[in-house]
Order: sequence, then C-alpha cells, then structure tokens
Amino acid sequence: MAGSGKFFVGGNWKCNGTKDSISKLVSDLNSAQLESDVDVVVAPPFLYIDQVKNSLTDRIEVSAQNCWTGKGGAFTGEIRAHYYAMIRYKLSSLLHAVGFTDFVTVTDGIRLLSKNLLAQTDSSVEQVKDLGCKWVILGHSERRHIIGENDEFIGKKAAYALSQGVGVIACIGELLQEREAGKTFDVCFQQLKAFAGSWDNVVVAYEPVWAIGTGKVATPEQAQEVHVAVRDWLTKNVSAEVASKTRIIYGGSVNGSNSSDLAKKEDIDGFLVGGASLKGPEFATIVNSVT
Ligand code: PGA
Repeated sequence: MAGSGKFFVGGNWKCNGTKDSISKLVSDLNSAQLESDVDVVVAPPFLYIDQVKNSLTDRIEVSAQNCWTGKGGAFTGEIRAHYYAMIRYKLSSLLHAVGFTDFVTVTDGIRLLSKNLLAQTDSSVEQVKDLGCKWVILGHSERRHIIGENDEFIGKKAAYALSQGVGVIACIGELLQEREAGKTFDVCFQQLKAFAGSWDNVVVAYEPVWAIGTGKVATPEQAQEVHVAVRDWLTKNVSAEVASKTRIIYGGSVNGSNSSDLAKKEDIDGFLVGGASLKGPEFATIVNSVT
C-alpha cells in the first residue's frame, strides 16, 4: 500500500439482512481474528445501524450508506429509496406481466420525476452521528446510476458530512462503456472533483461499475493503474501530502480468493466489499489479506 494510513476494509451490506441474519453476522465478526493494523468498518442498512452499534465489538467502526446534504427537519417519511425501488419493482412486474419488457424508458422517466423526492430521503448527518457512525459512504454507483444522484448533489453531501466530522468513503468508478471508450480516467477525475474540500477524513473507493456485484473483479493491474492515476490527480489538484496520506481502496467483486493478489499492489490501500461482507469469515479473510 502507498497511502500512509492503515489498510482500510469496509463492508457495504447494502439493503440486505434481517434482525436475525444481522445478529448472526455481528456475532461472526465479533469472534473473528482480525489483523490489528487494519481499519475495519461495516455499513449496515439504516434500519439496523442501532442494532449493530449495540452489539458489535468496538474494534469495528460503523458507517452509514448515505446521508442528506444538511440538517434533518420537515422531511416526512423514512428511506424513500426503498419506496422508490418498490414502485419500480411493481411497475416492472406489471409491465412484464402484460408482455412489455422494454421498460428502460419508463424507469428512466420515473427516475427523473422522483429525483427531487429522493433528494429528501436520506438520513441527516446529525442522526448518523447520533447513532455512532464515524463514516458515510457517498457516491456509490448504485446511488448514481439507479437513483440518479449527480456529482453536485454528492459533493454537497460530502461537504456537509465532513463539516460535521463524519468521514466520507468517496466512491468513484466508470461504466463498462466508458472504460471501452477510453474514458476511465476522465470519469474518475470528474467524480473526484465533487469531493473537493477537506481531504483529511476521506477514503477514496475506486469501484468500476462493471465489477460491482458481477463476479467480474478488476485485475490487480487494472485496479493499480487507476489507483496510481487517482493519486497523481490528488498530487496535482490537491497536494502531495494529501496524495500520500489518502487511502485509495478498491471495490467490485472482491472476495476471499482474490483479495490477497489485489492487496499486493502498491497503491491498493484496502477494499470496499459488498456481497462477500455478508459472510463474516470471508470478510475476515479479506481484512487479513493486508500485506
Ligand atoms: P460487490 O460490491 O463486492 O458485491 O461487488 C461492492 C460495492 O458495491 O461496494
């Protein structure tokens, strides 16, 4: 690893789990032997953060998966992304049932219409802090590409979270067609710009969208190449000090079998893990792949 901080491994549980399955996962994590020289963070769904905070060992920090751009207030409702996903799912099922399978246009339409509504759904940073979360994941590709969040909106959230002392796991990454068009660096740099501000409490997560949840992990060389470019960008656009201090972690189909090869690359300072973070022993293997 080239970042001068500790190796950093985050588990993004996404919208998975029940009280029972989360209790089992927490108990597996509590009994896991984790390398001491690694920052370990898990991001449960909002609804289970309190359960996790109350039962998880202090060895592991807790992150939120999202936050709002400012204080809470008159924003009735809970996590409306779930509500949106439910509408989209019901609509898709309905269209399928009547034999209409090309519903991309329809779902894009809903996404545009619901952008403003969705903008009001996230938990306030004050609440995230109140629950004891030290971190928040922002800019995840599922929020960019399913929910329709843009750089400006993500940047506002990041600035507010950082101003409140909550660290940001700042996700960036290109779509497959952007990689194929040779635009990987441009896309990543554009997304990085949105996180301008205080870099002290930021971990950059490079997550190529084509690798997320697909089982198609980037090769260590592909990941290393982008990590070096991100570090260079930080040197040129922020400072050499920030570039050398900032952890740049990789995410996208990381598992217990591929993590140690990736971890050998000099500029890979850790991982953001989705699917494999739902299995305690495998997540521990990934944490322990630090070299
Ligand atoms: P994955 O997800 O490990 O399941 O590919 C990574 C992520 O979305 O952060």
